[in-house]
Amino acid sequence: MELAIIAHDGKKAEMVNFLMQNIDKLKNNNVHIIATGTTGSFVEKAGLQVSKMLSGPRGGDAQIASRIAEGKTNMVFFFRDPLDKHPHEPDINMLLRLCDVWNVPLATNPATASLLIDHLK
Ligand code: PGA
Repeated sequence: MELAIIAHDGKKAEMVNFLMQNIDKLKNNNVHIIATGTTGSFVEKAGLQVSKMLSGPRGGDAQIASRIAEGKTNMVFFFRDPLDKHPHEPDINMLLRLCDVWNVPLATNPATASLLIDHLK
C-alpha cells in the first residue's frame, strides 16, 4: 500500500499532526509513504519513514503523478493551501487529474483523509 503525501507550506504542520495522530493505523496497514521533498523532510523530522521525491515546485508533484499513472501509488493526501499561489499549478492540476483518470482516492483536507484512513484494509 503506497500513500503519497503532499502539503503546501501553509499546511505542512497540519499534515505532520494528522500523520502522528494516525500513526498506528498507518503502521498496522503496512503503509509505505512517499512525499514531495519538503513535506517529506517535515515528516521525517517527526520520526516517520518516508521516501522523498523532488520538492514540489521542482518536479515532485510530477514524479508522484507519474507513479499514479503507473499504478504504483494507491492513495493520495494532498493538503492544498487554497489561500496561496503556487508556481507549479500545472503540475498540481496534472496530479489531481490523474487521480481521477485512474480512480485513485484523493483527500485534499484532513477531514477527508481521516475518512479514507479509517477504511484501510
Ligand atoms: P514540497 O512540495 O513538499 O516540496 O514543499 C509541495 C508542493 O507541491 O507544493
